[in-house]
Amino acid sequence: MKDLLDQLTRAGVHTLIAQFTDIFGVAKGKFVPLRHINELLTDGVGFSGPSIWGTGLARHGTRSEYYARGNASTAQVLPWLPGYARIVCDGFVNGEPFEACTRQVLKRAEARLAERGWHCRTGIEPEFFLLRPAEGGGWVPFDEMDRLDKPSYDLKSLPRQAELLRALQDTLEACGLDVLQLDHEDAHGQYEVNFGHDLALRSADHLMLFKMAAHAIAEQYGATFSMMPKPFANQPGSGMHFHVSLWTDQGENAKCLFSDREHGLSRLAHHFIAGVLLHAPALCALAAPTVNSYKRLVVGESLSGTSWAPAHIAHGPNNRTCLVRTLPGRFEWRLPDAAANPYLATAALISAGLDGIDRQLPLGPACNEDLFALGLPQIRERGIAQLPQSLEQALHALEADAVITEALGAELTQEFLRLKHEEWLGYARHVSDWELQRYVAQF
Ligand code: GLU
Ligand code: MG
Ligand code: MG
Repeated sequence: MKDLLDQLTRAGVHTLIAQFTDIFGVAKGKFVPLRHINELLTDGVGFSGPSIWGTGLARHGTRSEYYARGNASTAQVLPWLPGYARIVCDGFVNGEPFEACTRQVLKRAEARLAERGWHCRTGIEPEFFLLRPAEGGGWVPFDEMDRLDKPSYDLKSLPRQAELLRALQDTLEACGLDVLQLDHEDAHGQYEVNFGHDLALRSADHLMLFKMAAHAIAEQYGATFSMMPKPFANQPGSGMHFHVSLWTDQGENAKCLFSDREHGLSRLAHHFIAGVLLHAPALCALAAPTVNSYKRLVVGESLSGTSWAPAHIAHGPNNRTCLVRTLPGRFEWRLPDAAANPYLATAALISAGLDGIDRQLPLGPACNEDLFALGLPQIRERGIAQLPQSLEQALHALEADAVITEALGAELTQEFLRLKHEEWLGYARHVSDWELQRYVAQF
């Protein structure tokens, strides 16, 4: 502790940000003067539980105080906010780990892997928009010249954001993230940053840091950073793919359990993926957690070939039209969108995979076809199921899935379902412009 205090003082830090993540995947926290680091790392700093999404409106009375307790190893000076350092916190209530803290949920999933001498590594690929408010309302790309028909990887648009993206890249690298690539994605105003894979918990912590940095830096440049899954009906949405592998040990001798020299992917990986496919409908609730998420996963929409988001529960080698794209030694889980809470999505993924391993679930035949080119009857003929088509369907699937709800814990499941059913109801009751345009004059 003394060392950390000295180190932060030398780095010019005067204030800590005690940061945690709410159930919706949004960074929350408080400023804590550096001299109070001791309290932050031992008891934690207190928050009013009912004021935070997911710490429970029912938590009035003796359990209403939510404590965010810092993990010293996560202390990170923030380049975009001189004098401030972030410390990632875990939730505690009455001195006990708070069961429904999303970071604690992931730690419990990791502990189940650790019992077997394993750990999970993820590489997360956030896609996002840089926008500005449009004059007559709504949003347009921050780069007003960004109008090409097929803007993916476009080297006229990308350099126009070079300054902002470079600031983001420098910041992330100064914070210890290994930035692999930045590109222009397939929608106007849409970009992606890739990071090297890391321990699952660290990847989730890094993703939260990425969001904090990107919001702040975009704002400095006058842009609005958005990870809304599908802001524009006729443009691709923002995914947040996970590259996933299991490993033994944590040290230098770590061995990838998903590699198989002959087949590319081991039998263990096959069982894990079979679990991920079996639990896909329930996983949707965590990985595609908003009403808007399902505008990205529309069956039939992907047939146009412009969306690149999965709509069907299938896996295939290097097949981007499937929910799971298999690669040598790892797989890409293409379901999550950019609004997913990374801790919950990863925890649910691990529990689905472990179920596949424990029950030795067989992996069905690989799909080598372009699912975006096949018609729906042909997809059905092949016995390929579709993903839930609304938040409501996904929530029902989650409720019915004992493996995933057990991994999340009763308290988190109850609160998540309560908040999300409320969100669904708010949407279901809403009458949209589309409906008015279509029906007012027609009937
Ligand atoms: N934007 C697509 C999605 O929503 C993914 C595009 C890609 O494969 O990079 O998942
Ligand atoms: Mg992409
Ligand atoms: Mg990807």
